[in-house]
Amino acid sequence: MSESSGRPAGTAGRSGGQDASRESAAAAVLASERQRPRWPDGAHCAVMLSFDLDGPALWLDEDPGVWHRPRAFSLGAYGPWRAMPRILRLLDRHGAAASFFVPGWVAETWPQAVRAVAEAGHDLGHHGYLHELFYGRPLAEQRDILIRCSAIFRNVAGVTPAGFRTPSGDAAAETFELLEELGIGYSSSMRGDDRPYRWVLNGRSSDLIEIPARWELDDFPQFGYNDDPPAATGGDRIASLTGTLGNWRREFDGYYSRGLCYVLIMHPQVIGTPGRMLALDGLLAHIRSRPGTWLATGSQIAQWWRRVSPP
Ligand SMILES: [Zn+2]
Repeated sequence: MSESSGRPAGTAGRSGGQDASRESAAAAVLASERQRPRWPDGAHCAVMLSFDLDGPALWLDEDPGVWHRPRAFSLGAYGPWRAMPRILRLLDRHGAAASFFVPGWVAETWPQAVRAVAEAGHDLGHHGYLHELFYGRPLAEQRDILIRCSAIFRNVAGVTPAGFRTPSGDAAAETFELLEELGIGYSSSMRGDDRPYRWVLNGRSSDLIEIPARWELDDFPQFGYNDDPPAATGGDRIASLTGTLGNWRREFDGYYSRGLCYVLIMHPQVIGTPGRMLALDGLLAHIRSRPGTWLATGSQIAQWWRRVSPP
């Protein structure tokens, strides 16, 4: 966007000097808020439904002792084992495409769930092998994990993962150069925007698209709970369904009114309980009732953004 777009004509001429540059900065800030992203076929906003199919890998990363603790292990296994059929049915009923970020080990352990995701036309994305933290990990190890997991997905589901979401916390700046080098088209890991953008890598605008998400649209901070290993650290809490789904619905209305990219992060082991599935069903019906809502996979959003937002 040019700095002058949206500035009232003739303002600089009247004010002069420092006042003019202050006004022009203010106008540019206002213009950037007024500028709405463009979506396919004149859609009002984009919606990306995403699921991190962590299974027990989420707990194993924090505490390897979980391998020998059946209750904690079973809490994670509920996702691929019990929740996935419900989630896939729900998506099918709403005609909604979604994006699944899956650790390689989960794909090896529950291959049928991952195959069903690919067969239904949803996106599959990288999420580590055992949900490892990428931040602070040597680059060679990060590369090995990504290459190994691509081979697993090809083997299990016949597809190459198109996207990436950083598991267990932050990633390093070099991780994103690696994603580009390996031909991974998008990341959905950051928190600093409500629109997609191109990653700037080594000083140039790259083809790697970020589709950022937000903690308030993540089911884990609301509903994720375990006593041992503890989550969330610091106290028991499972938020109310009415409050959380009400927040998600109001956020969607806000994104819709401003034409932004609404990204829900969900975890099958968390969102897949019977009551939460009913609540999600209601939210999807609300989203579907708004005309001009583009429900798309991460790959589709990234592809579109590359077209309409030149480097
Ligand atoms: Zn995860």
